[in-house]
Amino acid sequence: MLFEKVIVFLGILKLWNDPCLTHCRGMGMRRVQKTIENRIECNGVGLHTGKEVLLSLNPLPPDSGIWFRRVDLPHKPYIKATANHVTQTSLCTVIGNNGSGVSTVEHLMSALAGMGIHNILVEIDAPEVPIFDGSAQHFVELLQEAGIKNQKVSSEVFALDKKFSISQEDKKITYYPNKELIVSFTIDFDHPLMKEQEYTFRFSEDNFVDEISRARTFGFLRDVEAMKKCGYARGGSLENAVVIDENGILNPEGLRYPNEFVRHKILDFLGDLYLYGMPVRGHFVVYKSGHTLNNLFIKALKNGKEKKDAHSDFQEASLSMSVNQRAFTILPA
Ligand SMILES: [Zn+2]
Repeated sequence: MLFEKVIVFLGILKLWNDPCLTHCRGMGMRRVQKTIENRIECNGVGLHTGKEVLLSLNPLPPDSGIWFRRVDLPHKPYIKATANHVTQTSLCTVIGNNGSGVSTVEHLMSALAGMGIHNILVEIDAPEVPIFDGSAQHFVELLQEAGIKNQKVSSEVFALDKKFSISQEDKKITYYPNKELIVSFTIDFDHPLMKEQEYTFRFSEDNFVDEISRARTFGFLRDVEAMKKCGYARGGSLENAVVIDENGILNPEGLRYPNEFVRHKILDFLGDLYLYGMPVRGHFVVYKSGHTLNNLFIKALKNGKEKKDAHSDFQEASLSMSVNQRAFTILPA
């Protein structure tokens, strides 16, 4: 969620059920890699910068992964879309490498995850992915228009064989081994429209398009106003977010789904999860998480696996992690 009221924090990351960590191992499953048939481009507006952005999607060969390229910068630097390149998670997910970065990647990453795209180059002439309508719908339509190509090369799917939990304050993500990808998400905001909203999503490309892709980002009017004062959300409007005040929803068209808020949180979660670098399978039970905890969770999975692959001590590496970062503060207007 983009407009979540984020407060400065300094907390300790807890990893539960640590006995399993020493025994975690990747369970390799296979699926076929995909890219797009043809290059496609589009124009949009960045949510935070309010600037016009030209974005193109380009096919890549098997085993390339997902890459961004800032074509507006000298030398047109590439940034691989992985959790270890995430540089900021306060209002959106930002990836960067050697001083260049791209922000608000999560809705595009979600569309790539949802449509099963493994290899693609995203060229962009600005520091921010366009927001379009605040959902992943336009990205899904672009991918469908470009054509999805089966590359006849298998891809590993990562999973663990043990339960794995991470928490931060009252937020929590728990992983349970499962052959399918399932996300059960609960939100609980201090607003009558968003009290204890829960939704379980079972992954398939059709389910993603039908149940998740059209859910828009959302925010409280007071937070949007505060962000604009701080120079953020300059492109924000009722055209690209659901905005709520004390009395209800300000968008005249209302909601696309009765529980659109929690569905959008699943959209964000799937996008952040895809920064693992390959499809991940399992049942994720998520309570109130946002980009920051999502990213810490992925890094714990990824770094733990890398440590284990290097025959190091996964448990020791994981338990030593702590949250020691300053998040963006939004003060009420
Ligand atoms: Zn979002």
